Amino acid sequence: MKTSKKAAPAIIVIFGGTGDLAKRKLIPAFYNLFLDGYMPEKFAIIGLGRTELVDEDYRKRLNEGLAEFSRKGAPSEEKWVEFNPNITYCRSDIDDAQSYKELAEKLDVFDKEWGVRANRLFYLSVAPRFIEAVTVNISESGLASIPEQDRIVIEKPFGHNKETAIELNKLLTRTFQEEQIYRIDHYLGKETVQNILAFRFANALFEPLWNRNFIDYVQITVAEQVGVEDRGGYYESAGALKDMIQNHLLQILCMVAMEAPASFAAEEIRNRKVDVLRAVRRFKTDEVHHYAVRGQYGEGWVEGKKVPGYREEEGVDKRSNTETYAAIKFFLDNWRWQGVPFYLRTGKRMQEKTSSITIQFRPVPHSTFPESQGDSLTPNRLTINIQPQMDIRLRFMTKKTGLEMSLNPSEMVFDYDNCSTQSPEAYETLLLDALQGDATLFMRSDQVEEAWDVITPIQEVWENRESLDFANYAAGTWGPETAEALIARRGHVWAINSHKKSPAK
Ligand code: NAP
Repeated sequence: MKTSKKAAPAIIVIFGGTGDLAKRKLIPAFYNLFLDGYMPEKFAIIGLGRTELVDEDYRKRLNEGLAEFSRKGAPSEEKWVEFNPNITYCRSDIDDAQSYKELAEKLDVFDKEWGVRANRLFYLSVAPRFIEAVTVNISESGLASIPEQDRIVIEKPFGHNKETAIELNKLLTRTFQEEQIYRIDHYLGKETVQNILAFRFANALFEPLWNRNFIDYVQITVAEQVGVEDRGGYYESAGALKDMIQNHLLQILCMVAMEAPASFAAEEIRNRKVDVLRAVRRFKTDEVHHYAVRGQYGEGWVEGKKVPGYREEEGVDKRSNTETYAAIKFFLDNWRWQGVPFYLRTGKRMQEKTSSITIQFRPVPHSTFPESQGDSLTPNRLTINIQPQMDIRLRFMTKKTGLEMSLNPSEMVFDYDNCSTQSPEAYETLLLDALQGDATLFMRSDQVEEAWDVITPIQEVWENRESLDFANYAAGTWGPETAEALIARRGHVWAINSHKKSPAK
């Protein structure tokens, strides 16, 4: 989350440089940072993979990727000529120690040519099973010998339960200090998510209301319209709880619920987030059914097209117990939030693609206005739409124009569409931060472990007890009815319709 324009000379090494993530996200992010003047004067990107490629072929692939995936479209000839000589390809096998020696020699050549030891960013864009081999080999070949200058970026999943997350953290810290490890959760790089901190802590208006005295409940929804696509095999061992709640949704919860940090320093902000996770009430095993609902989609209709149920997807067990939907009612045991439910839900094959946060304020203590003279008093609501719609909407009551004293809800809207500057991609923000050594938006080891601890009881119950009602929601709907019941017990409903740009009802 830096604002300075230039970073120190850097060499970026992408393990998995021939993979999908590199082509789709990483290279477009570096290229757009380059276009906007954020890349260092001197930088090199070295892609690694087993595929036989010469530099020219590799660059051509990446150029095609830019045309397809970059928010700024295909590169102009002029800019590409400036950018592409910085990219090289190195054929290498992750398990082969010799590959690391060759890589070390290559990095030394850059340092000598530039007359300075460049910062080194090792990006692990490979399956988690390779992390051990990469870190051990990096350590043994002395590739990351300067802790202040060398960093490693790791993609999720960070383990698949609390124990494996602890093991992974131990493994990483054998080679790297915690300050060198950047665990990426791309949700935290989104403009709208970062804006939560600005909204809360750069305004005096909202913070006094941001507590149990004024807020009735909070909802965080991350709904996807897509199914598992071609990742059925992977998803079978993941599921909505591990794939989404443990990371993205709990991280958003931290941004919404954290105390004001004393400064904008990375450790300060991360400390406040960990405080939130520690305050989340842990469920006992026999309470899980009371606080958490799981679902799996059956066949249905999405945007006028018939789509198969989860169990009919490729790579999925016909009797799969994997949840494609999860809704959980969390409570935070601290002074600010005691008694306020935080409803988190996520699902695949939902009616709409939307990620949003709803802050529902309490009703007024007494109604001055007779109900017959307008809509009943609708409590204030703040909606932060994260994606694809990006805005902040505050609902409040107003008088209907006219001679009578009649009321209706209105909205004040901050819409990103009206901003003159296009929002950067999350990966642009995060990669620039990693280059500049700012870990604010990355997950620290204790954050990851606490987040696993929060979901452990649910995970254990869901993994060990077969769900008897799967598939329990049709594709193209808002999930199982039990999720409505989960929050209806307190008289609450999911605020799905408020995501629309139409006036609030
Ligand atoms: P992918 O397309 O399957 O690419 C895997 C990469 O690993 C390829 O470059 C492959 O290179 C390389 N590789 C595999 N075995 C190797 C070995 N023994 N030695 C050297 N290189 C080897 O995977 P991906 O989609 O890019 O995902 C990479 C990581 O990012 C995964 O952990 C994934 O969960 C995570 N992720 C991906 C996305 C996405 O949008 N794709 C989003 C979020 C997170 P060769 O084939 O040339 O050997």
